[in-house]
Amino acid sequence: MKIQSRVDLRPYTTFGVEAWAESFVCVSTTEELRDALAWARATGVVYQVLGGGSNVLLTGDVTGLVILVRLLGREVSMRHDDVVIRCGAGESWHSVVTWTVENSWSGLENLALIPGTIGAAPMQNIGAYGTEQAACFVELDALDVATGEVHTYRKEECAFGYRDSVFKQKLRNKVIITSVTYRLSTAPSINSTYRDVADELVERGIVSPLVADIYDSVVAIRRRKLPDPEEIGNAGSFFKNPVVKAEFASQLQSSNPTLPMYPQKDGSVKLAAAWLIDQCGWKGVREGDAGVHVNQALVLVNYGNASGSQILDLATRIQASVYQKFNVELEREVNIW
Ligand code: FAD
Ligand code: NAP
Repeated sequence: MKIQSRVDLRPYTTFGVEAWAESFVCVSTTEELRDALAWARATGVVYQVLGGGSNVLLTGDVTGLVILVRLLGREVSMRHDDVVIRCGAGESWHSVVTWTVENSWSGLENLALIPGTIGAAPMQNIGAYGTEQAACFVELDALDVATGEVHTYRKEECAFGYRDSVFKQKLRNKVIITSVTYRLSTAPSINSTYRDVADELVERGIVSPLVADIYDSVVAIRRRKLPDPEEIGNAGSFFKNPVVKAEFASQLQSSNPTLPMYPQKDGSVKLAAAWLIDQCGWKGVREGDAGVHVNQALVLVNYGNASGSQILDLATRIQASVYQKFNVELEREVNIW
């Protein structure tokens, strides 16, 4: 384990904004992770954990120690139709999904091409195209920062919700995820209800899709619709879709007949944050190198040399204008450092 001083963090987050870490370490085993935490404690500095940096906006230099989690490894066990995979927290999410699809194991195919690591996936219970990682989740191992011990969290302990989990709430900064276990199936269970996916399958002339067809469709849709962080800095959706009371949503729809509304199982209604932002005139707006993506108003972008605080300032003004026009509060999805 090698602690480095003053490290440029630009390559480590998908926003690609300039920021420096006072100290930096890359850990590839649980032992190294313990050593890094012990070093931070002994030197009296705070620490931050980074996976793929695709859900973080750096608004300035980071004091203390940045720990880059790169614990690797994949284990497989099979029982009848079930395939249980256990992956190290530092494995690339999309590489793991690709590997499962290559083996015709179904469960994660709708979540293809999401950047980042396995260890960060349970943090906000990543989701897309009609599913969430919680659907296949079995358990995870996480190091307790206070005791240095590894504890296994079963699904019922994780409080998974819409882009939410216990690790983002009560256990934030208290544990570091070291591995995650998912249950998949060799008997395909296809989920093609999401409109874009259904349309793409029709376009491809596929009537009875296989796991690989869903994966290919999702990859194609995402490549078409979303900015590639390799080309334009971004962290995906900057805000969560607001979930509001049904009564409020129908009031809003009576004065905004085209407002998209998605009723939830608990009676609440999810609104499309991108639509609200677009209606306030933000889609495609560019201020210097900070902007709102031209095709997707939920994605804030760095065209080159925007600073994190410029992007945050833009985000704050977007929140204020949506609140003023619709009386709806947009909650940030991206973690601000
Ligand atoms: P990071 O950005 O490195 O970290 C995110 C948070 O998790 C930080 O608070 C960090 O401290 C913490 N963390 C990271 N690793 C660990 C660990 N091992 N233990 C404890 N805490 C940890 N998200 C979706 O939900 N659905 C999408 O469809 C989606 N699409 C995206 C598309 C694009 C183009 C981009 C850029 C982002 C997208 N995202 C999406 C957001 C992002 O990819 C996910 O949230 C992803 O899981 C973040 O992983 P990461 O490793 O990059 O996490
Ligand atoms: P989209 O298809 O244009 O839809 C806009 C919004 O409407 C989405 O956010 C989605 O909510 C909601 N929606 C659409 N159809 C729905 C349905 N049948 N049931 C419930 N909600 C529905 O969205 P998009 O921007 O192209 O993104 C496609 C998918 O990828 C979405 O699931 C989105 O969450 C995911 N994505 C996430 C990120 C991120 O950073 N979090 C970035 C890019 C894409 P949901 O978001 O709840 O699905």
